[in-house]
Amino acid sequence: MFHFPDTSKIFLSWGELEKAIGNFETVEGHAEHSLEKVRKSGNVKNFQKISEDLVDVNSHRAAFNVVSLEEITVGLLTGKQSSPRRAYSIHVHCENSARYFVIYGIFHAETTEDYGKIIVSMSSSLNCH
Ligand SMILES: [Zn+2]
Repeated sequence: MFHFPDTSKIFLSWGELEKAIGNFETVEGHAEHSLEKVRKSGNVKNFQKISEDLVDVNSHRAAFNVVSLEEITVGLLTGKQSSPRRAYSIHVHCENSARYFVIYGIFHAETTEDYGKIIVSMSSSLNCH
């Protein structure tokens, strides 16, 4: 299950590159796999890819994806509710440090803030190696 934070949030995960490379040769393939996991989550519906781009992060090719979706929450008093969300992700494979990095950001869809820009500028300060 993919867990959503209650409020807007940005988080970073990483792991051994060898494991990631074993499953996905490219950052695009890695990103595709991550998005597919989100799409199949029980609490997600109306998953839609808005854009996919390649960006440069610390001289690595990185996959930058933007999706829109609805998060379904079930509350004892509120019943079933769905909230529109916008999710950003950047997948980076760093051969130099033998690690992969994924930056995720999940936000309320109604926001006027350009979180895509914020995520990309955050990724440029990632010191992966
Ligand atoms: Zn690196």
